[in-house]
Amino acid sequence: MTYTYDDQNIFAKILRGEIPNTTVLDTDHSLAFRDLYPQAPNHVLVIPKGAYVSYDHFAAEATDAEIVDYTRAIGEVCRLEEVTLTAGDGFRLISNAGRDGVQEVPHLHVHILGGRDLGRMLAKA
Ligand code: AMP
Repeated sequence: MTYTYDDQNIFAKILRGEIPNTTVLDTDHSLAFRDLYPQAPNHVLVIPKGAYVSYDHFAAEATDAEIVDYTRAIGEVCRLEEVTLTAGDGFRLISNAGRDGVQEVPHLHVHILGGRDLGRMLAKA
């Protein structure tokens, strides 16, 4: 079973510079930018620059360099947003995948949310 990646998704267009974004961090293999419709005072999306649809796709096929860069980029954004446990009051990472995960944009992204009490993790079904 192989993963399919739609290169017309919004984040692929952001990576190609076809639509604008508000960049928070730009590294060799990752880009972080502000969510267009923030759901908390801090709401940043972190994406790998490679064509990966989901976290499981990335974990299976990304290079070690991409994985290290992405992991460090997520931590660096938490630091820049001052939501770390050393400089702030904490945060939540979310990565939605597929239909059940209600993923809108089919390019791997982690949401970093913080700046307020985020409540319980999931609403009741
Ligand atoms: P998800 O449901 O996890 O796929 O979330 C996709 C996120 O992308 C949503 O929180 C949207 O608000 C956000 N989004 C959609 N278009 C853009 C854009 N052009 N720039 C920044 N964020 C966007």
